[in-house]
Amino acid sequence: MQPTASHFVNGAYLEDTDGARMPVIFPATGEEIAVVHEATPAVVEAALKAAFEAQKEWAAWMPVERGRVLRRAADIMRERNRELSELETLDTGKPVQETLVADATSAADALEYFGGLVATLTGEHVPLGGDWAYTMRVPLGVCVGIGAWNYPTQIAAWKGAPALTCGNAMVFKPSEQTPLCALKVAEILVEAGAPAGIYNVVQGAGAVGKALVEDARTAKVSLTGSAATGKKVYASAAAQMKHATMELGGKSPLIIFDDADVESAVSAAINANFYASGQVCSNGTRVFVQRGIKEAFLARLVERTAQAVIGDPRDEATNFGPMVSEDQLSIVCSYVEKGVSEGARLVHGGKRLDQPGCFIEPTIFADVTDDMTIAREEIFGPVMSVLEFETEEEVIERANATDLGLSGAVFTADLTRGHRVVHAIDAGSVWINQYNLTPVEVPFGGMKGSGVGRENSKAAIEHYSQLKTVYVGMSPVEAAF
Ligand code: NAD
Repeated sequence: MQPTASHFVNGAYLEDTDGARMPVIFPATGEEIAVVHEATPAVVEAALKAAFEAQKEWAAWMPVERGRVLRRAADIMRERNRELSELETLDTGKPVQETLVADATSAADALEYFGGLVATLTGEHVPLGGDWAYTMRVPLGVCVGIGAWNYPTQIAAWKGAPALTCGNAMVFKPSEQTPLCALKVAEILVEAGAPAGIYNVVQGAGAVGKALVEDARTAKVSLTGSAATGKKVYASAAAQMKHATMELGGKSPLIIFDDADVESAVSAAINANFYASGQVCSNGTRVFVQRGIKEAFLARLVERTAQAVIGDPRDEATNFGPMVSEDQLSIVCSYVEKGVSEGARLVHGGKRLDQPGCFIEPTIFADVTDDMTIAREEIFGPVMSVLEFETEEEVIERANATDLGLSGAVFTADLTRGHRVVHAIDAGSVWINQYNLTPVEVPFGGMKGSGVGRENSKAAIEHYSQLKTVYVGMSPVEAAF
């Protein structure tokens, strides 16, 4: 099942052992499960050349035929869901209980959705008296996709599916932490009939990503990563006036009012902080709970979090796995120390497990205040901050007091208040009495420092194509002299 070489270029696996060795570590045991090699300049060149040469022909295909390739790829992904999920678990350490339902399946959803949408992408006829104009939706060219390590299969497809739908080619660089899954996406697309060169995968860290963004042949970059990387990549794309989609980090508020269903709110807080061991960009890591139910909420939260089944993510009974890497684990541990030293009350977890692998307990802090580091910075791990509030006005102001704006949610039984509060939250995706559901049918992306552009839904089409206007003159041209 594992990919057979480091890169996938021009329709086939490609190896170049001159590139630096990148061991792939299974985070649950620390074992080396594979080795890939960083793309050398020759590999990067081969991928860009293949993409550049293949794109024009692909764009000239009948749209329904392009769609058929994507839909076939979706079917293959669903048929192989078990193997792909197991690979995702090895790559990331996420429990197979999660990967079976969240990764190849959501990648397949994107391939199916955009494959179905492709034939509807038409322009407009604009009457102008005697003259008229029409618009055409045309591809951008070669798009660069750069991924984070938390959802390697999903990110490869969420970028690839709309890009290919619109007639572009893609060169995708996965995170150096999780290089394996995107290769399977490329392999499946070719098996489904995609022409060679339309979707290429090259490995490497930031320098390889930078080379792709800076190459004059690439027209667009879509990055999923941290806000700090986003600023660099966005600036680099702007230097050549390239299109950019930036899917970055968050520090999102989850607001729970006194009248909320406590069990449902506790479930949401668990999902919004501990799914994928907290390595989810849209997580609701600032849990604002209204004073009247705070103690009841905390008691149930701690009781239920104690029931997490922490262990080998390959075991389907496990529902809480390791962090992706030792580095990420030590970042999370240092935030836990800061939480304690700045005076937050540790009510659950906080300890690294005394066993091989990158495990830390799901961690809950109460009595967190807005100025504490754990309430201000994205941790990207299983650390929940519970903050108390009294009034609606107050919580809206505090929820928005961040440079980030990816997500947010409100839990309340009062429908009008639910809508009023989510309307006031500055974030790209907000939920009422729900958290972190991001189906392909709806746009996903950030406001403020959480990014620009949108993935998924019809909105993604705007970010992988451009409009061309054709003005048709129907009478002789007149001039002043
Ligand atoms: P990261 O920013 O360290 O790396 C992201 C990717 O960018 C990697 O592939 C990396 O190699 C590449 N990169 C780094 N420097 C680069 C450069 N100068 N030029 C081009 N590419 C470069 O992020 P990470 O640690 O892999 O992922 C975690 C972050 O991603 C978190 O902040 C999280 O919130 C965010 N994230 C966002 C979303 C979203 O959709 N909004 C989804 C998942 C993760």
